[in-house]
Amino acid sequence: MNLILIGAQGSGKGTQAQLLAEELRLKPCASGDLLRDAIALQTPAGRAAKPYYDRGDLVPDDIVADMILDNLQQLGDAKGIILDGFPRTQRQAELLDRRLGEMGAHIDHALYLAVPRDVLQDRLSGRVVCAAHGHVWNLKTHPPRVPGVCDLDGSPLSQRSDDTPAKIKHRLDIFFGETIHLTEYYRRQNKLVQVNGNDSVEVVHAQIRARLGVERAPAPVQNEQSAANG
Ligand code: AMP
Repeated sequence: MNLILIGAQGSGKGTQAQLLAEELRLKPCASGDLLRDAIALQTPAGRAAKPYYDRGDLVPDDIVADMILDNLQQLGDAKGIILDGFPRTQRQAELLDRRLGEMGAHIDHALYLAVPRDVLQDRLSGRVVCAAHGHVWNLKTHPPRVPGVCDLDGSPLSQRSDDTPAKIKHRLDIFFGETIHLTEYYRRQNKLVQVNGNDSVEVVHAQIRARLGVERAPAPVQNEQSAANG
């Protein structure tokens, strides 16, 4: 199964992408993470993308598309892909459809996590990410067990450089002015699955599973060791 997650910044799409990737054995591919890695490593694409990223603007389609499309070819033993943050423009969606078509594949569903703008603004101001793997937590809606530390890998948490109030507003303007039109693109293809994202991580995830017809994985049988480890 190949999935796309469409959602504004702060809609929880990164968290849902992680959950779905584990549950459905899909390869997660987040364009923002790929860009942050390329910028940190100062690759040619990273250097070209940095000024756009720093302003909170969309990075030009060709730079992002090349990064993502190259990544699609290395699926390993995953059963498909889950794209988070790509496509963000109609041109990117068309490039993706074309490249998948050449590979004999296609997108099965585009999930849109709908969250009102005022809720997004509020959520983003509480968002923190971990230094090691970019796991996303939210001090208001999805806090880590120990403040300032990632539950999953123990690395320190901090706010992203583009989560300042002015950049948040700018990025939400771009989402509601441009990216949201992708819902029409996928609705025309009968692939759009719209879910109410204005709820807890667990409730949103349950809605997604129900809409995709995915069964809940059976609870693992606990042996003494796993019971002791909690
Ligand atoms: P994200 O982590 O998804 O919020 O993305 C962070 C930033 O990376 C965005 O504000 C853009 O500057 C850039 N970016 C991520 N994905 C894309 C994309 N598909 N097209 C253009 N720019 C992107």
